[in-house]
Amino acid sequence: MIKEINNIQPEHKNFDNNAIQKLAKSLDATEIGFADLSVLPAPKRMGYANGITIVIKLSDGILNQIDTEPTQTYFSHYRSVNRLIDDISLRILLFLEAQGYPSVAIPASQSVTDPEDSFTGAFQHKTGAVLSGLGWIGRSALFIHNSYGPRVRLGTVLTNAPVKVGTPITASGCGACRNCVTACPAIAIEGRLWEFGLPRNELYDAFSCSQHMKEAYHHIGRGVVCGLCVVACPVGK
Ligand code: SF4
Ligand code: SF4
Repeated sequence: MIKEINNIQPEHKNFDNNAIQKLAKSLDATEIGFADLSVLPAPKRMGYANGITIVIKLSDGILNQIDTEPTQTYFSHYRSVNRLIDDISLRILLFLEAQGYPSVAIPASQSVTDPEDSFTGAFQHKTGAVLSGLGWIGRSALFIHNSYGPRVRLGTVLTNAPVKVGTPITASGCGACRNCVTACPAIAIEGRLWEFGLPRNELYDAFSCSQHMKEAYHHIGRGVVCGLCVVACPVGK
């Protein structure tokens, strides 16, 4: 059973977010956010109270090359950005632990065995990002950053450092738009508007999406991501 990890020293209650922000910027993070994760059950956040979200904006030049299918450059870019996120997450973790705050860096892209969702990660990066106030979840089930739309990749550091947290976003900003629904070649996107707590499988069918990518884009590379729901989105274009 996962317990709360809460050994914050009283003298550390006035934690300054700026040092982490400066470190992340110096490592080329686009933005970082801070979330109170305590609304989630302890096992979903590994017992940690807070989350730090790392945002990297994807290249417009590379995304703009996507027309009817993903490209080799997108395939490679996606992986390069994941490596950068993992590097930044590790550096933030080391910084926090040097100050006495146990922390865990969640890999940018890693599926784990979950009986309820076989396409999920150890921690949902987009849940942390929404609780930080950085954006919402689109009809596509992608995280939609307030400024950059779905043109971002995310990472997370779970920590018990007493960071100052942002204001969560709890409602969709998609409005009447349905671009991603009509763009999806796998008909995997249900078209529902997100609200906080709505399970991902009520927004889209991860199995159909994954199957389509395996079958249709095998020639581009193993585990390629489609990107059509990303480039269809007007937010951040
Ligand atoms: S990645 Fe492609 S197949 Fe999957 S939901 Fe988006 S548009 Fe559909
Ligand atoms: S394409 Fe439209 S409906 Fe889909 S996530 Fe973007 S704003 Fe929302």
